[in-house]
Amino acid sequence: MMKLPMVEIFQTVEGEGLRAGFPTTFVRVFNCNLRCTWCDTTYSYAPNKAEFYATIDEIIEKVTEFGNVNVCLTGGEPLMHGEKSLVLIQKLAELSFIEDIHIETNGAIALDPFVELRKKNQDVRQKVRFIMDYKLPASGEIDKMVEENFDQLDEQDEIKFVIQDRNDYDIAVQTYKQLCKKGTGLFSPVWGKLRADTLVDWILADKLTKVKLNLQTHKYIWDPDLRGV
Ligand code: SF4
Repeated sequence: MMKLPMVEIFQTVEGEGLRAGFPTTFVRVFNCNLRCTWCDTTYSYAPNKAEFYATIDEIIEKVTEFGNVNVCLTGGEPLMHGEKSLVLIQKLAELSFIEDIHIETNGAIALDPFVELRKKNQDVRQKVRFIMDYKLPASGEIDKMVEENFDQLDEQDEIKFVIQDRNDYDIAVQTYKQLCKKGTGLFSPVWGKLRADTLVDWILADKLTKVKLNLQTHKYIWDPDLRGV
């Protein structure tokens, strides 16, 4: 039986990205291959432990119970479980009531097999969107980024730059201009480190007319440290 290590499955409104504000079921898978300095989900990897293990069918059952048309597949890093991640994506896409499955991936996993699945499976093609991070210097993980992933993305995808300081911002702009061919660029300030209005000033001064400011709205609605919201 295929089981995945899990952190939580819950519903809330999406806090970030193009689907922000829509009721969404979150499927948070345990484990991550990175350790970003500013990570706000440290409970999703070692030395912490998975909260529970679930078969793909059990995950599908829970997602069906919530019945939201939007699903966020997140972690940790939800694509680090290889074949299990692929099967989960396909089964979610086959649920007829689901319209959008956005997958938050950290930029350090080669997207090839997942993009291949999107090419060959019609449900996956219609519903699955990647929200790919590009980690910047202050995260401590920039050297792990798989730059070839940019060539795999499509117009419906999103590329998220989480920015802690001016150096991060400069690298984000340079990477966005050089490597982002398709998809929406999201610029997000690190919570508690960079003021959103400062980031807006920089974006406007540089006339980045297609970049979207991305705020973690759940941190404004609830206590920023609250889980499961
Ligand atoms: S990739 Fe995401 S979950 Fe993993 S350490 Fe970085 S911020 Fe945390």
